[in-house]
Amino acid sequence: IVLVERVSKSFDGFRALDEVSLAVRPGERVVICGPSGSGKSTLIRCINRLERHDSGRIVVDGVELGKDPRAIRAVRREVGMVFQQFNLFPHLTVLENLTLAPRRARGLPAAEARATAMHYLERVHIPEQAGKYPRQLSGGQQQRVAIARALCMKPKVMLFDEPTSALDPEMIKEVLDVMVELAMEGMTMLVVTHEMGFAQRVADRVVFMDQGQVEETAAPAQFFAEPASERARLFLGRVL
Ligand code: ATP
Ligand code: MG
Repeated sequence: IVLVERVSKSFDGFRALDEVSLAVRPGERVVICGPSGSGKSTLIRCINRLERHDSGRIVVDGVELGKDPRAIRAVRREVGMVFQQFNLFPHLTVLENLTLAPRRARGLPAAEARATAMHYLERVHIPEQAGKYPRQLSGGQQQRVAIARALCMKPKVMLFDEPTSALDPEMIKEVLDVMVELAMEGMTMLVVTHEMGFAQRVADRVVFMDQGQVEETAAPAQFFAEPASERARLFLGRVL
């Protein structure tokens, strides 16, 4: 459903992505890891066009990301995105955060959008927080709202960029639990994370990036037991 072919992206001459290729098929869970600056966020941001790639091809749900703005809108509708910083609208309640995009982008009637929002708030186990503002919630709760908000658009694939790295340790688990539940339900997921326990439990494949390149792709069991590259070995030595 996501196809990345020899994609490169430079910032002022610095090659953040260097001919990266990657495919995520429907129902697959792929975890991306790698050192800081290796291009993980840039890759995720290119996939939903927060950043535009310089060369190569990105196809999401059969639509190639190119110059056509309609393609970009079409892709954004099908792709859910969860960031490290929760990026909720601070002046809107939780419920309003959840109903905004479905009403605007999908044209859902208010009542239906509210029903969908409540459904997903229950799925992330915080229906009682619907009337609160983001600042009144813990970090873990805010991130679960962000996940619910993405799910309200019924995305075909969910992209996560270090969703737990801004959280206090005791809140990491509640967010990871929700992500594991999503995976169990068959959601297609591309997840940048250093939570190797999560990777071991749910990932079909682990992609290790270094210096803008995909250095290694392997099944989690293989990757953690015996990474093929020296760089992956060094990296795992630091994060495990
Ligand atoms: P981290 O683990 O720290 O989040 P990352 O793997 O997500 O790292 P990226 O954020 O993709 O790394 O950055 C890759 C490289 O591209 C870095 O060297 C970064 O400084 C550079 N870069 C990213 N975004 C920009 C930008 N908007 N302008 C200039 N340079 C950028
Ligand atoms: Mg990053």
